[in-house]
Amino acid sequence: MMKILVPVKRVIDYNVKIRVNSEGSAVETNNVKMSMNPFDEIAVEEAVRLKEAGLAEEIIIVSIGDKGSQETIRTAFAMGGDRGVHIVNDLNTEPLVVAKILKNLIEKETIDIVIMGKQAIDDDSNQTGQMLAALLDWPQATFASKLELNDNQIKVIREIDGGLETLNVKLPCIVTTDLRLNEPRYASLPNIMKAKKKEIIEIPIEETGVDFSSRLEVLKVEEPEIRSGGRKVEDVNELISVLKNEVGVI
Ligand code: AMP
Repeated sequence: MMKILVPVKRVIDYNVKIRVNSEGSAVETNNVKMSMNPFDEIAVEEAVRLKEAGLAEEIIIVSIGDKGSQETIRTAFAMGGDRGVHIVNDLNTEPLVVAKILKNLIEKETIDIVIMGKQAIDDDSNQTGQMLAALLDWPQATFASKLELNDNQIKVIREIDGGLETLNVKLPCIVTTDLRLNEPRYASLPNIMKAKKKEIIEIPIEETGVDFSSRLEVLKVEEPEIRSGGRKVEDVNELISVLKNEVGVI
């Protein structure tokens, strides 16, 4: 029976209006609502559906981050995850380091399928799944909008520019989720209660054996330029006159 790994990242909630910190070095995360990365919620949902269909046996949730990540793992438990691993790192962990840590865990746990987000909405890297596939030398199907597991392979449909692309990947493999794959469920109260009892193993990043020093350096983080407001014109004549005389584009 299949074992599925779902890596989930704790990020600023997608509804929060982002602010840059006073040093201009990062986005402000103090006193800001944090949630599971939306693409990872979709990944958890898909794993739970495979388990409910009797196609998978166990769903392992892993998160790399500060102590708040435990709450994110419990959210995944309340949706149907079985047990968790929390790799503790107070700083943001860059994609290559995340991929190396996941690789070690996958080899230890003998995982069949990794379902993960196509990108984390905090730094929009869109790298971890691809790097992990390369490190493991596993096939990957990125940006999945539909997924079907049959025996030893997964059929994945991807939305591409010209239409839909269908891929078959052999297990073990990596799948990354796109927005339309499914609609994640809301956890019920009994499931939230049950989630409190599920096991999370905590491992400090220093004990993973992975070199977690940064290869990326953030030079500066800036707010986008504030747009000047628009204005209404009375009629076409005024519009043409404004475009000609004020904006100077015709
Ligand atoms: P990224 O490459 O950073 O855009 O992230 C792509 C996916 O990798 C996310 O949707 C998560 O599934 C996974 N991921 C990235 N960072 C972490 C992390 N710190 N902990 C757990 N999973 C992560």
